Amino acid sequence: MGVGVVVGPARTAIGAMPENNGMAVLPTAASAATTAAADPTGPAAPEVDREPAAGAGEPRGSYWITTFGCQMNKADSERMAGILEAMGYREAGAELEADLVLYNTCTIRDNAEQKVYSYLGRQAQRKRTNPNLTLVVAGCVAQQEGESLLRRVPELDLVMGPQHANRLGTLLERVQQGQQVVATEEHHILEDITTARRDSQVCAWVNVIYGCNERCTYCVVPSVRGREQSRLPQAIRLEMEGLAARGYREITLLGQNIDAYGRDLPGITPEGRRQHTLTDLLHHVHDIEGMERLRFATSHPRYFTERLIDACADLAKVCEHFHIPFQSGDDEVLRAMARGYTVDRYRRIIERIRDRMPDAAISADVIVAFPGETDAQYRRTLALIEEIGFDQVNTAAYSPRPGTPAADWPDQLEERVKVERLQELNALVERVARQRSARYQDRIEQVLVEGGNPRDPEQLMGRTRTNRLTFFPARRPDGRAIAPGDLVDVRIDTVRSFSLSGSLV
Ligand code: SAM
Ligand code: SF4
Repeated sequence: MGVGVVVGPARTAIGAMPENNGMAVLPTAASAATTAAADPTGPAAPEVDREPAAGAGEPRGSYWITTFGCQMNKADSERMAGILEAMGYREAGAELEADLVLYNTCTIRDNAEQKVYSYLGRQAQRKRTNPNLTLVVAGCVAQQEGESLLRRVPELDLVMGPQHANRLGTLLERVQQGQQVVATEEHHILEDITTARRDSQVCAWVNVIYGCNERCTYCVVPSVRGREQSRLPQAIRLEMEGLAARGYREITLLGQNIDAYGRDLPGITPEGRRQHTLTDLLHHVHDIEGMERLRFATSHPRYFTERLIDACADLAKVCEHFHIPFQSGDDEVLRAMARGYTVDRYRRIIERIRDRMPDAAISADVIVAFPGETDAQYRRTLALIEEIGFDQVNTAAYSPRPGTPAADWPDQLEERVKVERLQELNALVERVARQRSARYQDRIEQVLVEGGNPRDPEQLMGRTRTNRLTFFPARRPDGRAIAPGDLVDVRIDTVRSFSLSGSLV
């Protein structure tokens, strides 16, 4: 294994290969048929990478996947784990015992990227004494670095960008033929019919749109995840029906900018609207039997419409939690970031959400110490956090990323300023979240049970509809046990910034 490095030629060959990679690409029997029948004006039926990898199902040893970064990466990892298990791999008990190690990587900030290199060093050393070990780097670092990753870590067998996640089986076959493979070419993402191996048995993620067409001046995502590719509503529904039938009660629809869903799909309604939007998708999947809760993330303020808010308020299964990053509380910084909205527009979205769903939880992402950000501009971000009263905010100090415009701007801020701003910001976020949590005190909340509290065997944990993590006793007052997937009522007696505890009603 790993003989015959096919860097240049293999890369071109893989990237330039037709979608089917020389194999049969069939429409799914079920989904294609329903697509054509149900939606004659809609886009073409989904393509599916249906050909099982050679020798599928034969025992092949053990695998280990470590995932860095966002939920999109976690969802990709679950699909890749499903592919490996369908090929005959089983999950390893420990990373250093695995026969195949896959790092699904993140490059959103420099520290996430550096972590991957330190993990890789350890595995490269292992490979020197164990040539049968298969080493894979997937995800955004793989896409960003491509072949140069092989020069840096020659022990690697496979480097594959996020658009190739569904092709893991095919790519590994090439590795097993003795090639060192780089798959980073722009790729039309095929439907994957392999069952993902999901970490939870209650909550599942479903990708509905891949990639990003925005050009935020700080962000590396468009260059590593490619242009937007929306999946067809019929294919999404089919996957969700399968999940609900297997007992999943909560489904989160995922996309970098989920509210941009469908803008790459053809079709205009008689009223002149795009035929495929997130709002229409929510209506399309809402009645799936067995699915109790529906969420979606991440939303972009530019595309968050009143129609979407109304649908969320009207559709009972859509949970009252919205993750809408605002990135900065200052209009000039937002312009420099090329975000395409103003602080006022953001305020109006939140007002409208709260008007229709007064208890809705709002979370966001924010970046401080963007190049040129003045103290006054930074303070406007703090003020907005206080004014909106966020339930949670993911915070980051700006990290220059290779190939992004802002990385070359001369007015970069010092590390000291980044650290100071981030610390003050985090303290504020926690205080505001604690104030928001206070409203739960003594309330009865519906909680979807996800599993045991890892820190207390006597307790279970789950989430409220507003996404607050909640702990409660593992047995009902009458002694009856509770199972993951149950919906229980919990009277909240302890509130913390980001979690709650209570007793069963
Ligand atoms: N598409 C979403 C949006 O538009 O808000 C965000 C997706 S991005 C993968 C997740 C978060 O990473 C962003 O919201 C941003 O706050 C953060 N981020 C992206 N690039 C960054 C950078 N160069 N430095 C610091 N944080 C960054
Ligand atoms: Fe990055 Fe902006 Fe796309 Fe979000 S919208 S993924 S921040 S480029």
